[in-house]
Amino acid sequence: MHVHVEKDKCIRSGNCTVAAPDVFDQYEDSGVVFLRTDHPAPEQEGDVRDAVSMCPVLAITVTEK
Ligand code: SF4
Repeated sequence: MHVHVEKDKCIRSGNCTVAAPDVFDQYEDSGVVFLRTDHPAPEQEGDVRDAVSMCPVLAITVTEK
């Protein structure tokens, strides 16, 4: 799985960092999302899919590769 975030869409809700804290984080100053890894481990993929569905602005996309 490959994860991509569109930082210009992020409204800093924090849903993704709650769902998958090993994959998503937020800059302390701005609150905008950044990736701790863009290739999560297989056991993290379920949490990443939860984060995708919980993002209110659809800023997270995943591809299977
Ligand atoms: S869930 Fe979406 S809007 Fe919220 S912090 Fe994550 S990427 Fe940004």
